Amino acid sequence: MSNRRRGLLFIVSAPSGAGKTTLVERLVEVTPHLRMSRSYTSRPARVGECDGVDYHFITRERFEAMVAVGEFLEWADVFGNLYGTSAADTERILDSGSDLVLVIDVQGARQVRRRGMENVAIFVMPPSAEILEQRLRGRSKDSEDQIRRRLAVARQEVAAFAEYDYVVVNDELSPSVDRLQGIILAERARLRAMRGEVETIVRTFEG
Ligand code: 5GP
Repeated sequence: MSNRRRGLLFIVSAPSGAGKTTLVERLVEVTPHLRMSRSYTSRPARVGECDGVDYHFITRERFEAMVAVGEFLEWADVFGNLYGTSAADTERILDSGSDLVLVIDVQGARQVRRRGMENVAIFVMPPSAEILEQRLRGRSKDSEDQIRRRLAVARQEVAAFAEYDYVVVNDELSPSVDRLQGIILAERARLRAMRGEVETIVRTFEG
């Protein structure tokens, strides 16, 4: 990026099964200077997942040691596994001038807000409870019990939508990616993001 500014921090949250990971992966593919953060988790890798690609897969002990020394910008216990975002990775990416998307749950979004870190938070909403349930049943080998648990958590999560700056209803993939990209581009054009670059332009007008 010319005239390097610090990157913008975006948060995307959605109930499990709302399709946020696919959405954000697409978004990052089609949007230059936008990166998706790689979380740490104590959850075992699923078939097809790669360490250092999908997540940094670490032991619960190592995760707890990282919590103890304050290495996480935010972290949460989600369905009995620990997930967290490295504070140092976040700073490095934002300092490099790239914008960054954290795909984190509602608890994690609250922690980032509590830290007073500037961010733009987007809630990805499934079109209905029924559709979310169909997606959960369709995609996974989750047991009935796990599906029930995910739906119960989803009920609490959707109730938190008002804590976010934007909402995208994920009905179909491609239009939803477009709407997300629209938000990113609009935020990039805001005065607070443009100030440095614009001040440089204004100086070229000074005699
Ligand atoms: P999954 O195990 O299906 O990959 O993710 C389960 C949940 O953990 C998702 O709702 C996802 O948003 C959340 N999650 C993934 N990474 C993080 C993280 O770094 N922090 C927080 N707070 N939640 C995360």
